[in-house]
Amino acid sequence: REEIDEVRVAMTAERKARKIIAVGSGKGGVGKSTLTANLAIALARKGRKVGLVDADIYGPSQPVIFGNQGQKPVAHDEKLVPVASRFGVPMLSMGQLVEPGRAIAWRGPMAAGALTQLLDAHWGDAEILMVDLPPGTGDVQLTMLQKFKPAGAVIVSTPQDLALIDAARAGQLFDQAGVPVIGLVENMAGYACPHCGEVSDPFGKGGVETTAARLELPFLGRIPLDLAIRQGSDRGEPPAATDGPIAEPFLAIADKLDA
Ligand code: ADP
Repeated sequence: REEIDEVRVAMTAERKARKIIAVGSGKGGVGKSTLTANLAIALARKGRKVGLVDADIYGPSQPVIFGNQGQKPVAHDEKLVPVASRFGVPMLSMGQLVEPGRAIAWRGPMAAGALTQLLDAHWGDAEILMVDLPPGTGDVQLTMLQKFKPAGAVIVSTPQDLALIDAARAGQLFDQAGVPVIGLVENMAGYACPHCGEVSDPFGKGGVETTAARLELPFLGRIPLDLAIRQGSDRGEPPAATDGPIAEPFLAIADKLDA
């Protein structure tokens, strides 16, 4: 009995010591999953023990980004064991709980239950859990905020006006729940033409920094729109794991998260 109590205390302490960083966005397709994966890898490169939870029920894309589709987590003592990845970041994804390619149309309680399974898994000595939230402000986000109290949240947006309005709304959700917004990241700004090198801004530029200033939140950095990011993500070779210049913006943002 005493032993059981001791284990319980130890487990609670472990969960408290672990820092959860949630990555959210106002809408889908702005690069939230890409950013979450690459920040986790960048933190691991800096020597931190990091795990990743893919809680995006609508489009769990982390198994593709990590190149470990088909690998299913096993359970031990009724808890999931995270799947290892080539980048030193153990991970669990909603996509590993269902058949690949099947749209997940879970109602609130089921989605919340699945999220709990992913977060209450055997995370061992992980110091930081990066959580890829679904876009917007639904049930999974609420469970995340109320039950697991992240240490902070990162919000990613493209510089487009509509994405920015939604991003501000996502920021409000964290704010109301008492979860500090660590800062905003601008993704897909500045596209260098592979033929002539001219830089254009398909989704505009600077909008996220302006919005961060307006909301009095830190601006964490800018990730360019780069074909190599899309290709690497589809191939299971995330840019942050490479030695190329494309890893740099991710490493720089990871520095700020770790500060
Ligand atoms: P979300 O998680 O917000 O839905 P994803 O991270 O899945 O968005 O990104 C959507 C698509 O855009 C993916 O194909 C991804 O590889 C691509 N992508 C994301 N960020 C960039 C970028 N900076 N440059 C090029 N492609 C990107």
